[in-house]
Amino acid sequence: MHYSRHHVLVPPSVLSASNSAMFVAGEQQDISEYLGYLLNSLSEAEKAKGCVPACDDQLNLTIADKSFSGQLTNIYKCLVCSHESRIPNKFRELQLAFPECTGNPKINFTVQNLIEHNSLPEILDGDNKYACPTCATYCKGEHHMRITQGPRNLIITIKRFGYDRATHQPTKLMHKVYHNNSISLEQYDNAMQQFTILLYRLYAIVIHVGNSLDSGHYYVLARDAEHRWIKFNDSEVSYVKSSEVRHLRSQNSAHMLLYALNDEVDMVAEEDKENAAPMSHMAPLTLEELPAKLRKFLKRNLGNEPPNQTTQ
Ligand SMILES: [Zn+2]
Repeated sequence: MHYSRHHVLVPPSVLSASNSAMFVAGEQQDISEYLGYLLNSLSEAEKAKGCVPACDDQLNLTIADKSFSGQLTNIYKCLVCSHESRIPNKFRELQLAFPECTGNPKINFTVQNLIEHNSLPEILDGDNKYACPTCATYCKGEHHMRITQGPRNLIITIKRFGYDRATHQPTKLMHKVYHNNSISLEQYDNAMQQFTILLYRLYAIVIHVGNSLDSGHYYVLARDAEHRWIKFNDSEVSYVKSSEVRHLRSQNSAHMLLYALNDEVDMVAEEDKENAAPMSHMAPLTLEELPAKLRKFLKRNLGNEPPNQTTQ
């Protein structure tokens, strides 16, 4: 979009172009599943056109990966012999669960609360013990996740799947999640064995309306360059006050939040997180980061002029 003369995408055209039998217009779908499918499809199409060499090299990532992917390491530790296994993974979405002790739907959280909760080690016990290769048996263990490369754009999904023991039915966890305009994420440098703090600024929220996870309605709140909130609700697009964004009606819950990497700092005091420097212009991929074929096409068609300043 940033380098295109087309400033508008029509949703039915995007759905049609994504060419999936799984996601049919008019049916109830999960936004997280569709976004994952869309980003995978874009990456596969880019590879199929020969824009990205097949090798799994940082320099040869697809546009979707350069924009949305990060790296993390899952660390599993045996609590009997202290053996550790480390499994690196790519991620395009951070799924945040609520603390287990909160059956009370009136308990509210902030996004930063949930990031911190989900960074805590998880004990592996009972049916979920760690298969320790050193002890050669299932042992009590510990799992935790470290982000080793924060993405340029961070997609956060709130896990709202619950289970009602009385009715034996899946339910939607209705806790309110208050967005933080800025959040911090710890990034671990394996080589240097030290953490840095990444600061992210919020630019969009996907809201799910409804008490059930099987159905409902999505709409989006997104900020423009002047930081005004705009509500995209089907064909209705309107400005909304930030107070409305902060105090959503009870059935409306933040389901997905999109944050842009803003800055990298060594230490951020808690009170400074909300007051971090104003969001710099969100930097999309530079021309040099685009695949050579696409770069040539853009230079030929746009004359290499700065994007979005040539057409109004
Ligand atoms: Zn062990």
